[in-house]
Amino acid sequence: MEPNSVYRVRPRGQKFLWRHRVLGLSGLAAAGCVLLVRALGGLQLSELAAFDHLLQLRPSEPADDRIVLVGFSEKDFQTLRSAQISDQILADVLTQIKAQKPRVIGLDLYRNLPTQPGNAALLNVFRTTPNLIGIAKIVGSDDGKDVAGHPILLETDRIAASDVIPDVDGRVRRGLLFTNNGPSPIEGLGLRVALEYLAKLGITPEESSDNLLRIRSARFVQFSKNDGGYVNADDGGYQVLVNPRGRRDPFRTVSVEEVLNRTLPLTTFRDRIVFVGNISAGDSDMFFMSYSSETGSTPVPVSGMELHATLTSQILSAVLNRRPLLQVAPKWVEWSLIILLAYVSAWIGTRRLSHLYKITLTLALMGGVVLICSLALNLGWWLPVVPMSLAIVIAGATMMTFEAQQLTILSNQDPLTLLANRRMFDETLYREWYRSLRSQTPLGLILCDVDYFKSYNDTYGHSKGDHCLRAVASVLKRSVKRPTDLAARYGGEEFVILLPNTDSHGALRVAKLIQLEMQALQIDHSGSRVSPFVTLSLGIASIVPSTDVMTELLIDVADAGLYEAKRKGRNQVVLKLP
Ligand code: GH3
Ligand code: MG
Ligand code: MG
Repeated sequence: MEPNSVYRVRPRGQKFLWRHRVLGLSGLAAAGCVLLVRALGGLQLSELAAFDHLLQLRPSEPADDRIVLVGFSEKDFQTLRSAQISDQILADVLTQIKAQKPRVIGLDLYRNLPTQPGNAALLNVFRTTPNLIGIAKIVGSDDGKDVAGHPILLETDRIAASDVIPDVDGRVRRGLLFTNNGPSPIEGLGLRVALEYLAKLGITPEESSDNLLRIRSARFVQFSKNDGGYVNADDGGYQVLVNPRGRRDPFRTVSVEEVLNRTLPLTTFRDRIVFVGNISAGDSDMFFMSYSSETGSTPVPVSGMELHATLTSQILSAVLNRRPLLQVAPKWVEWSLIILLAYVSAWIGTRRLSHLYKITLTLALMGGVVLICSLALNLGWWLPVVPMSLAIVIAGATMMTFEAQQLTILSNQDPLTLLANRRMFDETLYREWYRSLRSQTPLGLILCDVDYFKSYNDTYGHSKGDHCLRAVASVLKRSVKRPTDLAARYGGEEFVILLPNTDSHGALRVAKLIQLEMQALQIDHSGSRVSPFVTLSLGIASIVPSTDVMTELLIDVADAGLYEAKRKGRNQVVLKLP
């Protein structure tokens, strides 16, 4: 019988495929884990935080000279000796601004109720300032309250939405272009002011059938709930990702006191967009943005007015200066990147390199990913840096653990027969010897040697000889039944079987079984002088260990049995007593 038929060996090609299957599986499993946790929202907060960090790493852009903010600060309220901005003061401020001929005035203050004194004066300013845009809260705040716009501004269609949409962590990273409440969409203050400014330059949005806001070459892609790191976010209305200008002072801010005292140059507001709003720290119209934590551990809030101004600036820069808008890659691209990186990281794990080298390579890969994501954000692309890094770590760690495990297996295995090797046998013998000593149970051992194997090699060649050894190994493997039994290659064509808690009768039974199995295999051996087929000679010993003898005794006794079996003519079992 052909020995190879009883013991299947994985050829080289199959081994390669098997290795790649493990590599592919660990890559896919790591990527799958990351994608699942991401889809369940487990990465949302860290992805948003990473987004903020990468934004903060970008070089700051200079302040937008087209926009000036006029802020009512804590100091102004103290100077004015009032907790409220009276209509008269607001009318005075607006009159001063208007005198310098700004292009648009965005009034980010609710004025639906008269705040005397000076209501008549304010009404007059509202009536005579066609480029003034007021606000209303359309969608409503957390307490569910909406705030109507001023009737005069409403009548002349000069009301925009002041609504702000914070993320789960309270920060604002999205801006509202339109609300979809009510019969017709209402523009957000940022967009409305930008449109007024552009209209004066003769630029208007393109008519489009696909509901996409297009102004010149700028396409304002609508935010949808699972964009970037978001999971199931509120994507009501028409929102876009906010692309802030930079760390601090993205706009010139002047105080109300400066405006009222007329200490500002006469060109301060000329042809510019002027936002008027509250900047006192105690005001509820304060928010945290991506840049808010940059100055230190305590986040610094920005005013609602600055948020609207940021959106206006973003729109104007996109239309007039071709500044990139923030975009996210399609989901399939994100997924492919995550899977690809998991695969690359797993591949590094399979390389024949030292652990330190692999870890260094993996860290370098992660560094590269962070660098690329950072550069991409400069160009306006938000890539999934956290899921990609996580996939690298998980795939790399999985593969390295697997490889380390494989190495342990290999160092204990005989490469030809895949039985335990001599090293493993020596360790096990030592362990089992002392275990049997403690429990005073017999430890059995069978030494077996292939008969006339030199002549088998000479007759059939070494390659067939190897096949024959594998066939013998498979017989031994099948013949040991208990999980504590161990069959090992002792050296050359000699094998050993360790049988804990087995007396000489038990060991004899196992040896007879091995002989029967070998007979059944019927491996031709024309060079043998005892049989036409390959046979074994077996020596058996079983000892209850005691403190005054060593492990070698067990081997020596079995060896004596094997020697006797050979001497008596081979193909037989000899049990020796110590
Ligand atoms: P005996 O019946 O007395 O055991 O005779 P024998 O020829 O089997 O014994 P001997 O010790 O003279 O020869 C053992 C042979 O086993 C010599 C060596 O070429 C062969 N051998 C040892 N290891 C391997 C191996 O890994 N592959 C092959 N093909 N042959 C091996
Ligand atoms: Mg031998
Ligand atoms: Mg031999």
